[in-house]
Amino acid sequence: MHIHDSMVDLVGNTPLVRLNNVTEGIQATVLAKVEYFNPGGSVKDRIALRMIEDAEERGLLGPGSTIVEPTSGNTGVGLAIVAQQKGYKCVFVCPDKVSLDKINVLRAYGAEVVVCPTAVDPDHPDSYYNVSDRLVRETPGAWKPDQYSNPNNPLSHYHSTGPELWEQTDGKITHFVAGIGTGGTISGTGRYLKEAGDGGVQVVGADPEGSVYSGGSGRPYLVEGVGEDFWPTAYDRDITDRIVAVSDKDSFQMTRRLAKEEGLLVGGSCGMAVVAALEVARELGPDDVVVVLLPDSGRGYLSKIFSDEWMNDYGFLDQGGDEPRVGDVL
Ligand code: PMP
Repeated sequence: MHIHDSMVDLVGNTPLVRLNNVTEGIQATVLAKVEYFNPGGSVKDRIALRMIEDAEERGLLGPGSTIVEPTSGNTGVGLAIVAQQKGYKCVFVCPDKVSLDKINVLRAYGAEVVVCPTAVDPDHPDSYYNVSDRLVRETPGAWKPDQYSNPNNPLSHYHSTGPELWEQTDGKITHFVAGIGTGGTISGTGRYLKEAGDGGVQVVGADPEGSVYSGGSGRPYLVEGVGEDFWPTAYDRDITDRIVAVSDKDSFQMTRRLAKEEGLLVGGSCGMAVVAALEVARELGPDDVVVVLLPDSGRGYLSKIFSDEWMNDYGFLDQGGDEPRVGDVL
């Protein structure tokens, strides 16, 4: 029988797909590691599984434990699925700017979500940070994974994403490109590939314009899940050979092209990473193999990136829409 014992067994081993159309004029091979094939729909399932299993091994998690993490997005989904299958409770703390859809996804998987006001000082007792710290202190058996400082975040990629890419490309990968949020993906995958390729693999970080990784101050940008206004310990700066800063407009236009031209309905940080990958690939020859990691699906962004109205509100569409639609006056 070909069966899996649970959804947790399906974490990782995601496909590598050639980009055929957005790569016009480029000689190098450009391949996408499509992480929405993970059971929770994102790359974050990988870190959730390893962070939880490590905490179990170290006796920090056991029967009756509760996982408490300030997260509204992909990490929450990964943690919720793994926790549910292993019998732990999950409490997530989200700022009130997070969409109801995202909160409902976490609740659908059985997690409890505590929503905190955004418009208060970080020192205020109701702030996002203070509420999650208080919940950890006051909940018996609580454990906070803290993806920004947990070494199992980059380690999960060192042990899964890196070896998968080395094997899938038969050791021919020459460049690895990924967005940087916590830095776990690029640090762990990059370190493995540098070791496997004896230093021959170049590691390129993609960063939203304004974030600290590309020399900014953390100025607001709209791409979600990447860029920071501080340097997390999960990020190992020594691994990255080059950082490419990408604007919101370029990121979102590429995200829409990936759906239309490659059949890849992915999130905004994927468009951002592809823009960076193509910038690198344009300088390369036919023997180079560039792999770009696409962290999540576009389903969570339908009312933003995939809405002409939203894109136009921010001036992200060049001609006020991609093409004429029913009702348009032509
Ligand atoms: N894209 C999205 C949509 C994400 O949720 C994340 C994780 N924050 C990233 C990219 C970046 O991954 P990492 O945290 O491993 O740097």
